[in-house]
Amino acid sequence: MKALEVLLSYACNEACAFCSQELSWRKAEGLPFALVARELYAAAKDGFESVCFTGGEPTLRKDLPQMLALARKLGFKYLRVQTNGLKFAEPGYAADLRAAGATNLRVSIHGDAALHDRLVKVPGAWAKAWAGAEAARTAGLGVGVNYVLNGENDAALPAFCADLLARGLNDLVVIHPLYEGDLLAHEARMSLPPARAAAAARAAAAAYKKAGAEGLRLLNLPPCAAPELTHLMLAWSPHSLLVVDAAGRPVDLYMASHDDRLHAGPCGSCTLQDECLGFKRSWLKRFPDAGGFAPVAAAPAAPRSGTRILRRGGGAFEAGRHELARAVAPVAGQAGGRPALAVERMSVTLDADAGRVSESRVVWEEALAHA
Ligand code: SF4
Repeated sequence: MKALEVLLSYACNEACAFCSQELSWRKAEGLPFALVARELYAAAKDGFESVCFTGGEPTLRKDLPQMLALARKLGFKYLRVQTNGLKFAEPGYAADLRAAGATNLRVSIHGDAALHDRLVKVPGAWAKAWAGAEAARTAGLGVGVNYVLNGENDAALPAFCADLLARGLNDLVVIHPLYEGDLLAHEARMSLPPARAAAAARAAAAAYKKAGAEGLRLLNLPPCAAPELTHLMLAWSPHSLLVVDAAGRPVDLYMASHDDRLHAGPCGSCTLQDECLGFKRSWLKRFPDAGGFAPVAAAPAAPRSGTRILRRGGGAFEAGRHELARAVAPVAGQAGGRPALAVERMSVTLDADAGRVSESRVVWEEALAHA
């Protein structure tokens, strides 16, 4: 399923200490409804069936229900909202978005109540996020959870997994932090030593195994961190820039992750070197010994998360070029007061004949009606 991601604006009503966006970006203009509508029309015409509205916090947009309704009308089948969950705690909101056409919610929760509220800097946020998740489930939305791992919540991850599974949810993406954006202002607290990141990933996998559950995925960790968990990892190779995972569920685009990857240290003798994008430059700067991770001696046999559709001859795509994913966003850090909005569109294309995935970016200036 081809997926469109729409980053509506960087505005947010939380202030997460690990946020990879900069607080100053919040002043930037959001995408006007007309532009979003145009992108939805174009994507629908090109056969896109999945759309995710994200930010910032997309529920700050009063016109989100109208965007969902338009997307539904245009034929999108999977309509997801990526959120901190605060707004969903308001009575009727989840049902309203469901009625507008939303099918799924992805909510960010990062520990127990005290930990989460401290990390996002909003008292009561944890209770609201869970209330929002429950309201969404009651309204008939599919619910998944994101957990951004960091120096304060790695030890709490196994208990979080147990709590999530006890609530009857299992779709969890554990995200290794990016050393960029507002995290840099809190780096002493948020920095996560590589060995602890790997241990947390293993502890989460053990909690799932103990419960006999599936649905755990790991983002931004390279296979050498925990080779036996490679099948759970996302965005470690170009093949994981996917729009549909191995179970047929759409996942995020993760497109911005290519440019700043580097092979180093253990990569030279790693069996995955040709397939793996390597380490983030910003991470290597902090952990120059590549975390002490050893090269992967043998490519894991288990199928990797989301590699299904990009394999040549894998069955999902015929020969030729196929646009798989597209994301549209206001340009981060755009100066306030300019007469036009700078917008970026990124696309991921699969050349099935060459077995290659490529990204392209276009940036243009959009006149604003109120300028
Ligand atoms: S290629 Fe490098 S980053 Fe990737 S798994 Fe191997 S050692 Fe790790």
